[in-house]
Amino acid sequence: MDVEKLIEEMTIDEKIALVSGTDFMYTNPIKRLAVRELRTSDGPHGLRVQARGSGDNGITGSNVSTAFPTAATSSCSFDPNNTFLMGKAMAEEANHYGIDIILGPACNIKRNPLAGRNFEYFSEDPLLSSDMAIGEVKGIQSQDVASCVKHYALNNCENYRFNSDSIVDKKAINDIYLNNFGRIIKKSKPLSVMCAYNKINGTYCCQNSYLLKEELRDKFEFTGFTMTDWGAMHNRVKAIKAGLDLEMPGDTAICRKQLKDAIDDKSLDIENLDESCRNILNVMDKLSDKKKDADPKFDEHDKLALQIAIDSAVLLKNDGMLPLNENKRYLVIGQLFDKMRYQGSGSSMINPYNLVSPKQAFDNNGVDYRYVQGYDVNGSDVDQRYIDEALDASKDFTDILVFLGLNDYLESEGCDREDMKLPLNQQALIKELTKLGKKITVVLYGGSSIQLDFKDEVDAILDMFLPGQEGGNATYCLLFGKCNPSGRLSETWIKKYKDTPFASEFSNSTREVYKESIFVGYRHYLAKEDKIAYPFGYGLSYTTFEYSDFNVSQDENAVTCTFKLTNTGLMDGKEVCQIYISKKDSEMLRPLRELKGFTKVFLKSGESKDVSIAIDKEDLKAYSFKEDRSLLEEGTYQVLLCKDSMTVLSSKEIEIKGEVISKDIDDDVKEAYDEGKLTKVDDKIFEKMSGLVIPEDMKKLPITTESRFSDLAKSKAMGRFMHMCVLSVANSSLKKAKKMKDGPEKDNQIKGAIFMKRVLESNSINSMSMCAGKSCPYNMALAFVHFGNGHIFKGLKSIMKPIKVCKLPKETKN
Ligand code: BGC
Repeated sequence: MDVEKLIEEMTIDEKIALVSGTDFMYTNPIKRLAVRELRTSDGPHGLRVQARGSGDNGITGSNVSTAFPTAATSSCSFDPNNTFLMGKAMAEEANHYGIDIILGPACNIKRNPLAGRNFEYFSEDPLLSSDMAIGEVKGIQSQDVASCVKHYALNNCENYRFNSDSIVDKKAINDIYLNNFGRIIKKSKPLSVMCAYNKINGTYCCQNSYLLKEELRDKFEFTGFTMTDWGAMHNRVKAIKAGLDLEMPGDTAICRKQLKDAIDDKSLDIENLDESCRNILNVMDKLSDKKKDADPKFDEHDKLALQIAIDSAVLLKNDGMLPLNENKRYLVIGQLFDKMRYQGSGSSMINPYNLVSPKQAFDNNGVDYRYVQGYDVNGSDVDQRYIDEALDASKDFTDILVFLGLNDYLESEGCDREDMKLPLNQQALIKELTKLGKKITVVLYGGSSIQLDFKDEVDAILDMFLPGQEGGNATYCLLFGKCNPSGRLSETWIKKYKDTPFASEFSNSTREVYKESIFVGYRHYLAKEDKIAYPFGYGLSYTTFEYSDFNVSQDENAVTCTFKLTNTGLMDGKEVCQIYISKKDSEMLRPLRELKGFTKVFLKSGESKDVSIAIDKEDLKAYSFKEDRSLLEEGTYQVLLCKDSMTVLSSKEIEIKGEVISKDIDDDVKEAYDEGKLTKVDDKIFEKMSGLVIPEDMKKLPITTESRFSDLAKSKAMGRFMHMCVLSVANSSLKKAKKMKDGPEKDNQIKGAIFMKRVLESNSINSMSMCAGKSCPYNMALAFVHFGNGHIFKGLKSIMKPIKVCKLPKETKN
C-alpha cells in the first residue's frame, strides 16, 4: 500500500470518514481507492464478535469463542507465557472471524478494591501488570492481528468514568500509571492504543496531547494509531490536534461536521488530519486482508483455558483439608457450584464455546457428594429456608465444601462495588455453617478482593477468581490434588475496606483525587501490615520450597539475582520467586519495597534448580520532582528475595551508580507521606506535593452535555420524563431476559440488561450521543440538555434540526 499516495488522492470527506468508525465495530472503507475496512472486537480475555451493526458494549449476544480466565485471574499465575498463549489463541479465533483488531489487553492499575472493572485488569503493581499485558500483546500480534491496549490512562473507577477528572501528581503518573503503559508500549509495540473516558488533571484523555503525544509517541515511541474508547470523544478538532486518530464507534455527524468546518475555516491544519490517516493506513498496511474461516482451534483453546485457570488459582488457606480425598463423601453447599461465575459483565462478556461448572466436573469424575443450594446466586436477600436446608444436610457430614463469591449485581463494568463484602445471603450462610464445628473448605469466585470475616473459622480457602469456561474442571483438579495450586495474589487483600487510603472519597463524585500518590496497593498496605488479610504475591502450595545461595551481581544495565530453589515436599509444583527492591536512605518519596523481578519455576518433588532473575536498571528509575523526569538515584539499595511482598527470605545490599540527588521533596511532605503510611496527608499537602489545585466538583445542575444521564432524574419535568423513558428500555430488556429459558444465554442476557441500566445511569449525555451514532445524534443530546433545564421549545427545535454534514463514502454511489 502506498500510504503517501493514498493520502494525496483522498478527498477531505474521505479523510474525515477514515478517522471515524462505523457500524459500531468497524472503520470506514474507501472503496474508490481500495482502502478496506478494519474490524474490531472486544477483548480482552476472549472474543466478543457481534453481527455488523448490532454491536454494543456487552448487552446482546455474540458468536461463540473461548472464554479465558479474566485478567484478575491470569495475572495471579505470575506467568506472562500464559497471557502470550491466550493472546495467540484469541488472535487465531480472530482470524477465523475476520477480526483485525482485538480490543485488549485492558491494563489499568487496580487503585481501589471497589473499582468495578478490577476483574478485567491485571494488578495493583505496574511491573506485574505490564509484564502480563506485554505477553498478551505479543501473543495477539504474533498472528497478524493488532492489539489495542486500553484504557489509556488513569481510568481507575467506574461510577463516574465518563466525566470524572483524575487529579494526580506527576510522580504517581510516571512511577505507577504511565510506567505501566510505557513498559507495555515500549516492549510489545501494540499497533493501537485506546484512550480512556476520563480527564486527567482537567483535560479529557482524547484531547490530552501530554498523554497522546509527549508520553505516547515521543517517550514510548508508539508508532501505531490511537482510538477513543466507545463514546469517549468530546471536541473532535481538539482531539485530532492532540493526537487522537480514530473516533469510535463513530457514525457521529457532529464530529465529521466539526472537522469539516475547522478545515474550511482553517482553524485545523489539513496536516493534522493527514497524520491521523497516515497512522491508520500504516497499521492497515501491516495487517494482511483477513483470511476468514481460519481454523478457530476451539478444542485446543479450551485446554489452554483450563491450564491457565489451574495455573492462576490461589490457595489462600489450608489447615490440612486440601487436597480432598476421592474416597470420601462430601457435602457441597452454594449455588456457585452449579452456576459458576466465570466471567464479568460488560464489554468483555463472552459467549463461551464450552462451559463446565464445578458440578459437571464433579459428576464427570465420579465424585461422591450431596449438593444443597445454600442461597440464590442472583440475589442477596437472606432466605432462611436455604440456610436451614444446608444446616440440616450438614448433620450427616464431617467435611463440607462451601462455594461462595461475588455476583453480577455487585461487580460489573459501569459501576463500582459498594463494599468488599459477599452478598448478604452468602454472609448469613457461612456465619451459620462456621458455628457447626465441621471441617469447612471455601471455594471462591469473583474478580476482586473480598472481605473474608470468616477466614479464621474455616479450614481451607481456594480462590478461583473468574476462571473462564473451564473453571469447573480447574476447581475439581485443584481440590482433589490432580494439580498443585501455584497462583499468587496480584492485589493485596485487606481485612476491611475502610483500611484503603481515603476510602470514603473513592468514586463518589466527578473529582477523583489521587491523594495517596505512588502509595497504591502494597506500596501503602505494607506500611500498615496489620490491615492486610493476605499480602500481594501471597499464595500456598501442596508442596514446600527451600531457597539457598542467594547472590546479587550487576553490570552497567542490569542487576542479576541468583539462588538455588528446591522442592522439598512430596508433590511436583510451581513456585513464584519474587525480588523486591528498597532504598532506605532515599531522597525521594518511596514505598518500603517494590516488586522489580519475578519468575515462575516448575520443580518435581525433590528437584533443585539454579534460578536467575535479571532486573533492568531502567526499571529502577524513579521520578524526581526536582528534575521533572525519571532518574536512577545513586547509592545503596536493598535487594530482597521474597516469598511474597510481606515475607522477606534473604536480603543483600548493592551500590548503584546513578545520579546524585539531594532533597527531592520538602520535609513536611515527606513526613506526611511517611513511607506510605500517609499519616498526615490532606488536601493541602497533596496540593503542595503535586503543585495542583484540587478543582471544585462538577455541579449537577444546570444540565450540560457533560452531565451524567442520571442527573436528568433531578432536573426539570421534561428532563425527568426523558430519563424515565430511556431507562424503561433497559428495564424492559431485563424483564424480557428473565423470562427466557434457563441456560447460559439467559444468564448472559440478564447480565447484559443489568449492565445497560448501569451504563445508562453513569453515562454522560455527551458520551451517550458519541456512542449511539445515528440513534442519539448530537442534536438529540442537546435536546436532553434543554429539556433538563426546562427549555422545552429550544429542545424541540434542536430535535428538528439535524446536523448537516457530508455523506460517508459508503453512502455515496461511487
Ligand atoms: C469499554 C471498552 C470496550 C468498548 C467496546 C467500552 O464501553 O470501556 O473496554 O472495548 O466499550 O465494546
